[in-house]
Amino acid sequence: MEAVTYSLKPGQSNSNAYYNDVHTFTDIVLSHTQDSLMPIANEYYDFLNTYKLEELREIEEYILELISFGVLWRSYAGTALAVKHAPFITLARMAEWRKKHQRIKPYIDFARGILMTGFLLPDSKNKRPDIPTLRQIDHVCKWFEATGEFREQAYRFIRWRGFWETKSPGELLKIFTAIEDFTQWFEESSIEALGKYTQNVDNFINSNYKRYLWREDRISCTRKRIEYHLNMVGADLMNRAFRTEYLDTEIKNVLVPGCMRTHVDKKCKAKKVKEGLICDGCEPQCRINRLGEMGRKNNFDVYIIPHASDLSLWTPKTNQPKRGVVASACVTTLVEGGWELKRYDVPAQCVLLDYSGCKKHWRKDGFATELNVLELKKKIFDEKV
Ligand code: SF4
Repeated sequence: MEAVTYSLKPGQSNSNAYYNDVHTFTDIVLSHTQDSLMPIANEYYDFLNTYKLEELREIEEYILELISFGVLWRSYAGTALAVKHAPFITLARMAEWRKKHQRIKPYIDFARGILMTGFLLPDSKNKRPDIPTLRQIDHVCKWFEATGEFREQAYRFIRWRGFWETKSPGELLKIFTAIEDFTQWFEESSIEALGKYTQNVDNFINSNYKRYLWREDRISCTRKRIEYHLNMVGADLMNRAFRTEYLDTEIKNVLVPGCMRTHVDKKCKAKKVKEGLICDGCEPQCRINRLGEMGRKNNFDVYIIPHASDLSLWTPKTNQPKRGVVASACVTTLVEGGWELKRYDVPAQCVLLDYSGCKKHWRKDGFATELNVLELKKKIFDEKV
């Protein structure tokens, strides 16, 4: 099947080789951080510990935050800084409302699509400063939140900003030079290591740019290649960072997107429950039905999450046994989802969809997506990742 933007199994029958490649590259990324980002992350860790600003997390998470800052700054700072006036707060609130009010979500999305193109994505960009000022970081974080695409990242960058505020101009210069140099290395190295899985991204953006004008998913569907690579490495780093906490949970659940179903319309007989949809087994060959059968034999439940915004339904209730989830989504949304679940105190593991293909965002004809079941099993059970 021809990849829309990415495929984890280009010309192959499965994506096993991808998981080896991304794991190896993530090891290289981590070793490359040792003299560049790791000292900054360690200092930040001590800062958070000294001022008791949060429950301390694994160091991989802080590394991922720094890599994300570098990549997103490179990708969007020029655009965000060109926006002088915009209804930032209204747009950020609308991104929240669309999660809470499913019934009016299509109307909110319609309005957000117009406002985003009208205010957040001007035709011309500013030159991206390699070394940002704190004011510029504030402005870009406001823009990140308003897009609704980078809300979790914005929350984290704002905390980093508090740390950066304690630094002298000379120290800030060193920090941002290290981030900039690392990002440059990451862009070049990730193309070599993972580029074969993202060969169609540029072509897709160039051929479909006009189609996404005025649409709410414009940013999500026109992500740059470096962002795909960031999210691939990010998913691997998250799996490492959240592994112990996930294995300690009493109940395991698998969350899959609606686009994996054989039927996505009313022919799908899945039943609505509080946390999403449960497959009713109407189609023996449906990939979700087969995962459901695997779950019945191995003691885990499978939930269909039709919209990424439904993750908020997973906020744990008091007096409930702790639940861990293995979630799947396409490359552009998985890391944001993992961070959102972390904020709800739900330890997650992730497995990427082998390719994207849903009708709503990617292809007019749409096709059922799939994931690597071997990799899913490794993540669910107590096996080394
Ligand atoms: S088998 Fe389950 S998920 Fe697949 S179409 Fe039928 S009800 Fe929906």
